[in-house]
Amino acid sequence: MTGTAELLIDGKRVPAADGRTFTVLDPAQGTTIAEVSLAGKSDVDQAVAAARAAFTAPAWARMRAADRGRLLYRIAEAIRRDTDRLARLESLDVGKPLRQAEADVEAAARYFEFYAGVADKLGGSTVPLGPGLLDYTVREPIGVSGQIIPFNYPMQNTARGSAPALAAGCTVVLKPSPEAPLTPLEIGRIALECGLPPGVLNVVPGDGETGAALAGHPGIDQVTFTGSVTTGIKVAQAAAANVVPSVVELGGKSPVVVFADADFDRALTAVAASAFGNAGQTCSAGTRLLLQRGAEEFLDRLAAHASSLRLGPGTTDPDVGPLVSARQRDRVLGYLALAREEGATALAGGGSPDDPELAQGYYVQPTVLCGLTNEARVAREEIFGPVVTVIAFDDADQALAIANDSPYGLSSYVWTRDLDKAMRMAEGIRAGQVYVNATGVGTGVELPFGGYKHSGWGREKGLEALASYTQTKNVCIGFGDRP
Ligand code: NAD
Repeated sequence: MTGTAELLIDGKRVPAADGRTFTVLDPAQGTTIAEVSLAGKSDVDQAVAAARAAFTAPAWARMRAADRGRLLYRIAEAIRRDTDRLARLESLDVGKPLRQAEADVEAAARYFEFYAGVADKLGGSTVPLGPGLLDYTVREPIGVSGQIIPFNYPMQNTARGSAPALAAGCTVVLKPSPEAPLTPLEIGRIALECGLPPGVLNVVPGDGETGAALAGHPGIDQVTFTGSVTTGIKVAQAAAANVVPSVVELGGKSPVVVFADADFDRALTAVAASAFGNAGQTCSAGTRLLLQRGAEEFLDRLAAHASSLRLGPGTTDPDVGPLVSARQRDRVLGYLALAREEGATALAGGGSPDDPELAQGYYVQPTVLCGLTNEARVAREEIFGPVVTVIAFDDADQALAIANDSPYGLSSYVWTRDLDKAMRMAEGIRAGQVYVNATGVGTGVELPFGGYKHSGWGREKGLEALASYTQTKNVCIGFGDRP
């Protein structure tokens, strides 16, 4: 595939004002798959102006909430009808196996479908103040939402942020990652074809400068950011300087606590999918395996499973695809070198695959590291590759202490047949998500999602996401002879 993908501003495809483009590479081959217009500051200005105008234009501002919902529903259906093409494009762009990309298309459709049903239910309430006073609240859309997303789930993240914002009556300027701009542009195009008025959803791919221009733009009313902690801090600071709220969904180092009494068959499938799915480039991946002493059989099985996973280009639907870029691959290999320095033993993987057919792609072997404590840097820092670090524990108290001994608090997973242990972990773990005998992979758009600690603030997904895109107006009316 070749061609130039342009920005989507005010319902039109346009080149960047200064004509700049960037190249998107196939992570399986290192070859060019597309040129994409690179949005600069003036393009961001144009997009924000278009979103502002659309926010107050009758076509959007005066659209009945039920009609807005129906429109979102049409977008969901159109995305679903386009599953094959969108999945192939996602797979080509970011390297993820086709089956995972298909699941991402379905998730994107589900976001629009879920929030379609919510658009006409965002009512306020009345407040009882006594005779002669009627007090009621109205939930109004917050305005223009600036959304900045990472490379790892571009299609899902586009839908995750824009669908609730649109349902609430906001307009959106979305900045995808330069490593994954293709499907966000496609979702924008599909939305337009379904009848979304021009300017309601603008898509401006670009780099960090583009993101900074959007995050600090005085014309936006709210920022939704998904990405690393380092960038999230800058984005939150930029938003704060304009006194606009931000949601920051950041990284993780999520613990998976496997007790010796767990159902190993189920746990194994889930742990492997979480750690190695999407080549480990998942914010909520379970990458710290806390394994109870006595459960060594589980470790042997996990290592054998990791070694058996088939690597290959995403479009050939392997078990594990390449990482998104050479930069990301090198970052992960750097952590594997650090793991060796820190005294780790790789029970599986540990580096680049030696298959010559994979030499041009950005592959890393699914890796299981043991012999470390929770103090090791590889056990504390987000690696964002197919690497799981194993740490031993004796009892539930120790497991809980290790699980919480992390700067992050995004997701967590507990595997045990003992209800008491499960409940203690669910109560004690400081993280936005706790899954007990269940996996986060493939669970629904209905659930609120977000982090504790350095994993961020605010919630996306579920009904809770709507809090970011609405603000409450209180109206108090006195009547009769009340002073
Ligand atoms: P990143 O922080 O490097 O980039 C994220 C986005 O921010 C990109 O679009 C990038 O171009 C943009 N950006 C870069 N500098 C900027 C700046 N100064 N101002 C504004 N925007 C800027 O992250 P990444 O490498 O693309 O993604 C990986 C990270 O994302 C991981 O840490 C992962 O855990 C996190 N993530 C979190 C969630 C979540 O929901 N919590 C989901 C997916 C990914």
